[in-house]
Amino acid sequence: MARYRDAVCRLCRREGAKLFLKGDRCYKPSCAIEKRGTQPPGQHGPTARRRVLQGYGEQLREKQKVKRIYFVLEKQFRNYFDKASRQKGITGENLLFLLERRLDNTVYRAGFSTSRRQARQLVNHGHIEVNGRKVDIPSFQVKVGDIITIKDKSRKNPHVEGAWQTAVGRGRPPWITANDAEVSATITDLPKREDVDANINEQLIVELYSK
Ligand code: SF4
Repeated sequence: MARYRDAVCRLCRREGAKLFLKGDRCYKPSCAIEKRGTQPPGQHGPTARRRVLQGYGEQLREKQKVKRIYFVLEKQFRNYFDKASRQKGITGENLLFLLERRLDNTVYRAGFSTSRRQARQLVNHGHIEVNGRKVDIPSFQVKVGDIITIKDKSRKNPHVEGAWQTAVGRGRPPWITANDAEVSATITDLPKREDVDANINEQLIVELYSK
């Protein structure tokens, strides 16, 4: 599968917003957006003016931003959109709920990691269990009642321990209930729109794909 290997902070600067791609550093003053503001990346970044986008440009940027937040490639993103448009309810919100219920996102949101990228690695490398069974598919959709745990050996990993201890500060969404004694998380509800990043305008993505 194709992977983005360049500096991820460039992606935040391209979108002009914090996308929280780098783990701990995103919450510190050393974050590139905190230090340099939202100036675009590249050699002309410091002098370049951010263009005010409208229409297609604005819709395209919003789609790119959401793809980057969830680390999903174009084809998979489009599949999510198609699935969301076949579901009952508001297509844009359905799209966000499908992305939120991915196992890698849930692992991040529950506090096993400080970024979705780390979470994906934990899943890919077989450290995560759902209802007591190993699941190494990042796109696996969690459902209400699922219990997410990390293998006993991996629980002692300093990255996991550190992430779990600081998860309260980062904030867990109300649809996930954490059990500190067991280092586990239970899906107690489905995500709601207010639980997802308020800076996403999903309607722009719907307009883009509906052309
Ligand atoms: Fe984005 Fe995190 Fe880098 Fe800040 S530190 S620019 S939020 S990836």
